[in-house]
Amino acid sequence: MDFNLAKEFEANFFRQLWDNSADPFWLCEVAGKDFIFIALNPAETRLDERFKPGVTLRQIIGFTPESEHLIAGYFTCRDTGKTLTFEQRPVLHGKPCLFQTLLVPVLNTEGKVTHIWGTARNLTDYLTTHLALEELNRQLEQMVEKRTRELQAANLELHQANKILENLATHDSLTDLANRRHFFAVAAAEIARSRRYDHPLSLIMLDIDHFKQFNDTYGHACGDKTLQTLASLLAGNLRQNDLAARLGGEEFVVLLPETSLNEALHYAERLRNQLEATGKQALSCEIALTASFGVAQLQPSDSVVDSFLLRADQGLYLAKSRGRNRVECAEGSEG
Ligand code: GH3
Ligand code: MG
Ligand code: MG
Repeated sequence: MDFNLAKEFEANFFRQLWDNSADPFWLCEVAGKDFIFIALNPAETRLDERFKPGVTLRQIIGFTPESEHLIAGYFTCRDTGKTLTFEQRPVLHGKPCLFQTLLVPVLNTEGKVTHIWGTARNLTDYLTTHLALEELNRQLEQMVEKRTRELQAANLELHQANKILENLATHDSLTDLANRRHFFAVAAAEIARSRRYDHPLSLIMLDIDHFKQFNDTYGHACGDKTLQTLASLLAGNLRQNDLAARLGGEEFVVLLPETSLNEALHYAERLRNQLEATGKQALSCEIALTASFGVAQLQPSDSVVDSFLLRADQGLYLAKSRGRNRVECAEGSEG
C-alpha cells in the first residue's frame, strides 16, 4: 500500500486497525530498565484491565520467573532493534493461558529504540485442545497397556492349559511316563532318524513279574504304587534322548537312540539289578519286586515300529519262560 497517496486514509486505516483488531495491541515507551504503557487498544483493555496508560511493565508483571522471561523479551527488542516473538503463559482470570507475543521496535531518526509496539495472539483454546488431546492419548495408552497385560496373562494361561492338555494327551496319568500313543510317534521318528544317519537304535521292553500277586495280596492301590515305583526307577535312569513309556498294564518300554544291542543289554541288566535291589524296600512289602526284560536292536527288516517291538517282546517272552527276573533278546538277535 502506498501510504503517501492517501494520508487521510492511512490515518483512518491505522485507527480502525487499532480499535477493531481482535488481537490486543499496545505501545510502550522505553524508560530506563522499565517500559511505560502509553496506548492500549480496546482488545487489550478487555483482556487485562491492569493495563492502563501510565503504568509500567514492572508494576504489572512483578518479578516472577515468568515475568523475567517476558521482560527479557522487551530488553532484547530494545537492545537489538529487531522484531521478536516468544511464548507467554500468564494466568488470566484464574485460568492458565498461552499467548504468542510479538514485539516490534519503533526507532527514532538516530536509530535508537524509543518505543515498542506489541501484540499477542491468544492460543489458549489451542492449548486447551492440545492438553485435552494429550490427556486422551495418555488414557488411551494406559488402556492399551492394560489390554496388552490382560492379553499376555490370557496367553500365558492358554499356554499353560495347552501344556497340561499336551501332557494329558502324551502321558500316562498313573506313572507320568509317556503313553503308548506318544511312544509309537517318537519311535517312528527315531526309526527314520536312525535309518537316515545309519546310527543304532535299541529298545527294552519289560514286564513286572507276578504282578498279579501285588494286587491280590495287598490290594489294587499297592499294585498302583508298584507301577509308580518302577516308573520312577526308569525315569531316574534315562539319558537325555531316551524315552520311557508305559505300554499298558504292567508293561513298559525304553527307547534308546544311539545305542547298540550290547549297550542296551547292559543297560537293561543294570535296571533289572537296581529294581531287584531296591523295589521291595520302596514298597515295604514282602513280595520281591522284579521284572523281565526283552531287548532288541533295530534291524533293516523292521519296516514299522510293530516289528521292532515284536522282537523286543519275543526277548521278553524268553526271559519269562527262562525263569523271570532276567534280560534276554530274541533268538538270532545277538551280536
Ligand atoms: P507275569 O510274571 O507272567 O507277567 O505275571 P503277572 O501277574 O505280572 O501278569 P498277568 O498278566 O497275569 O497279570 C497282570 C495284572 O496286572 C492283571 C491286572 O489286573 C493288573 N493290572 C493291569 N493294569 C493295572 C493297573 O493300572 N493298576 C493295577 N493295580 N493293576 C493293573
Ligand atoms: Mg507281568
Ligand atoms: Mg503283562
